[in-house]
Amino acid sequence: MSGIVIIDEKLCTGCGKCVKMCPKKILYLEPGTNKCKVTDETKCDRLGGCVWACPAGAIRIQ
Ligand code: SF4
Ligand code: SF4
Repeated sequence: MSGIVIIDEKLCTGCGKCVKMCPKKILYLEPGTNKCKVTDETKCDRLGGCVWACPAGAIRIQ
């Protein structure tokens, strides 16, 4: 299933805080764009650590 982790790239500043926070290591900063991306959403615990960590309010969990 896709669409669990939704990142608003317009808001993402590329700070990397969500990447460090994610216990499942499924978030990364894309080289070149420096925007946060998700690898395997099926591993997401849906606890929202990344949502809490993001200072830009760029992440939603659905
Ligand atoms: S909700 Fe948790 S497991 Fe899912 S992407 Fe965010 S920090 Fe990672
Ligand atoms: S914490 Fe927010 S602003 Fe920082 S890289 Fe992650 S999504 Fe982007």
